[in-house]
Amino acid sequence: LRVETEHPYIVHIGRGAVGLLGQHYRDLLAAADQVVVIADSRVAELHLPQLFEALADFQPKVFRVPAGEEAKSAETFMDCHSFLLTENCSRNTVILAFGGGAVGDLAGFVASTFMRGVPFVQVPTTILAHDSAVGGKTAINHPLGKNMIGTFYQPHAVVYDADFLQTLPENEIRSGMAEVIKHAFISNEGWLDELLAYEDLSKMFGQGLEGHLEKGIAVKSAIVEEDEFEGGVRKFLNFGHTLGHAIEAHLGYGKLTHGEAVVLGMAYALELSESPQLPRFLNWAKANRYPLMLLLDMPFDELLPYMKKDKKSTAAALNFVLLEAVGQPFMETITEQRAQAAYGKLRKTIK
Ligand code: NAD
Ligand code: ZN
Repeated sequence: LRVETEHPYIVHIGRGAVGLLGQHYRDLLAAADQVVVIADSRVAELHLPQLFEALADFQPKVFRVPAGEEAKSAETFMDCHSFLLTENCSRNTVILAFGGGAVGDLAGFVASTFMRGVPFVQVPTTILAHDSAVGGKTAINHPLGKNMIGTFYQPHAVVYDADFLQTLPENEIRSGMAEVIKHAFISNEGWLDELLAYEDLSKMFGQGLEGHLEKGIAVKSAIVEEDEFEGGVRKFLNFGHTLGHAIEAHLGYGKLTHGEAVVLGMAYALELSESPQLPRFLNWAKANRYPLMLLLDMPFDELLPYMKKDKKSTAAALNFVLLEAVGQPFMETITEQRAQAAYGKLRKTIK
């Protein structure tokens, strides 16, 4: 799958895809003075031997960073640069990100800033990363806001090996599948039907998962190709995210996975859209143990300030991505009263 941004690149997806690294990117890797893997420490523990095997000819160096979101700190960012400098890396160094979206965002930001930019390859290991590894957004967090420091920087390639996904914990499967469902909601009703039929997400392994990830990547990359720098349609990727982000911020990051919060946000966006899809979506979410009941513990007033802070909202108005129908997203400005009424209605439905 080719992504036609200003700097086009290929996404290789499938079981065993990592084995292709040394073949497909031999020229890039052989020309590099060093190959540096920035690895999520948990992922390194589980899967580094497989990556080493694929890179055997290139003697990669590995820098392990804290697992998950902790990797996206200014301190870890500086530690990466310190490692690169201590190892005498140069503009000809190639950086590989090995882990989920967190390490992808961090390593991408490091790659885009080290010596003003070195080539960068994503080797994602989560379902969610079908989303984050494509599109070229990089970031670390500031204590005052998530993803507040970052760049647009496209990877040289994405090598997505589905074998790595088998060790994902259940809540991370839920998290990633939320973004797959989001891609279906904004693109294709037939595909959404297929996804909503899964009452047990773990059944997807070895049974269609790669195909669904490929479709998700196709939706994401088509939107990114049209709007690389988020002036227009790229906003539709925020379906479910206005409330989702507010829930994450309100509960404190890390209490819920990102995708779990986004599922609550999508339920709310469907309510605001008066979508006939809402009941089936709630059934799917319940069957797969998304924590819908949490909405009952979160008063609207406590979420509102976070929704107002959302990057897509201006000071006065709340902006949401809604659905005219499946595959037909649009932006809508909503009054506080309407937002509150819809929230109350959704809570009643869930009870
Ligand atoms: P993550 O990278 O934080 O990983 C989640 C957890 O799973 C971590 O504890 C990690 O150690 C573990 N893990 C990763 N791969 C594993 C595997 N194969 N087996 C077992 N455990 C594994 O989470 P994520 O959901 O992949 O990414 C979330 C991040 O992505 C957030 O920081 C978010 O801001 C970012 N994001 C970025 C974009 C973008 O466009 N750049 C889009 C969406 C999300
Ligand atoms: Zn998201």
